Amino acid sequence: MNFELTEEQKKFRSDIRSFLEEEVPPEHQAVFGVESEEDYRFGRSIQRKLADNGWLTIGWPTEYGGGPKGPIEQSIFSEAMGYGRVPRTGTTALNIVGPAVMYFGTPEQKEKYLPPIARAEAEYCQGFSEPNAGSDLGSLEFRAVRDGDENVLNGSKMFTSWAFRAQYIYLLARTDPDAPKHRGISLFIADVKTPGISFRPLPYINGSMAAQTYFDDARIPSSALIGEENRGWYHAMATLDFERSGLERYASVQRTFDDFVELCKTTKYNGKLLSENPIARHKLAKIKVGMEIWRLLCWKVAWMQSTGAVPNAEASVAFLHGTVQRLEFTQTAMEILGLYGTLMHDPKWSLMRGAIEGIHRESMHLHGAGTTEIHRNIIAQRGLGLPR
Ligand SMILES: Cc1cc2nc3c(=O)[nH]c(=O)nc-3n(C[C@H](O)[C@H](O)[C@H](O)COP(=O)(O)OP(=O)(O)OC[C@H]3O[C@@H](n4cnc5c(N)ncnc54)[C@H](O)[C@@H]3O)c2cc1C
Repeated sequence: MNFELTEEQKKFRSDIRSFLEEEVPPEHQAVFGVESEEDYRFGRSIQRKLADNGWLTIGWPTEYGGGPKGPIEQSIFSEAMGYGRVPRTGTTALNIVGPAVMYFGTPEQKEKYLPPIARAEAEYCQGFSEPNAGSDLGSLEFRAVRDGDENVLNGSKMFTSWAFRAQYIYLLARTDPDAPKHRGISLFIADVKTPGISFRPLPYINGSMAAQTYFDDARIPSSALIGEENRGWYHAMATLDFERSGLERYASVQRTFDDFVELCKTTKYNGKLLSENPIARHKLAKIKVGMEIWRLLCWKVAWMQSTGAVPNAEASVAFLHGTVQRLEFTQTAMEILGLYGTLMHDPKWSLMRGAIEGIHRESMHLHGAGTTEIHRNIIAQRGLGLPR
């Protein structure tokens, strides 16, 4: 078994790391999820430069503005972005909508939707969750009714991250209320400026702004249906696996962990360096093991994608381990730092620009891209073959 990258892949990794070190200086790095206007614009400008270099979608086919390399290079890219703490923008477009349109879209849809994503021009949000449908997404109530060559959308979506930035919303709607619940659902892309669509702000724990999204007789062209009508559930499940596969989340936590280890080597408590404290050392060693496992699980998913496989339970294993590992690391860091760990960024005494406080706050929610319980259900059923 060979875990090595090829020489060409190593060169790409080194090029992108050097580029990000130069272009994303510490004052512009996103130490945790708070998203200011300035951060957003900066992140977007970096993505445009990456697109100009042909790196943003290096794993996509050339005809859609891609590399044309593959999932390994796309993963090298994601790892570098996370480790470089580039403010995250455009992730729904790049990691969810792009791959879904590539798999399920018509040639016209690929032509229309993919190149603007590859150029970092189009921003998307995802309208899946609803007031009465979260984990049990199959019971969604949002309706799309065909009327000539249009679909009329009615209902509400919850927790729409990026809603205030997006030009498009990628959504699930019930198109056949008489079919069994998973079989009457379809996927659409709607322009958020469509009359009848409106947003109400929902601030998240990490400071970024999501929305509850309302649709009141919003009419979209039927050409905005992605994939087969009433097969949207199955398309969406494949899409969610793309969302759960990424290395970016792992790498940003790894960067904070690496910085934290350096901090322990230089910070004294009761006259002794934290790195000399045997309890702190054992705790750090335990986190190191968990981080290493997380990285390998993510790379296993990338490797599976590079063979043409669509990871499913494997993506859940990597995502679930990451969610739990991130929380364990931040709790450990909080224990080691004591009250200093709770200080937010800017005050004179805060450490690592408040990164520990920020990432700890963000780690408290275990719900994004499927809750921990839902991932355990997936692993039990599809990974272990246990009955539903
Ligand atoms: C940061 C963040 C960003 C998000 N962004 C988006 C977005 O852009 N678009 C979007 O559509 N959604 C988004 N979501 C919503 C996310 O997909 C939902 O939070 C998730 O699907 C869970 O739904 P819920 O919050 O309604 O919880 P519920 O489904 O109500 O679950 C409540 C609790 O019950 C448990 N539970 C539920 N069902 C089961 C079961 N069968 N077995 C065991 N336990 C169960 C859950 O694990 C959870 O602990 C986001 C969430 C977060 C945290």
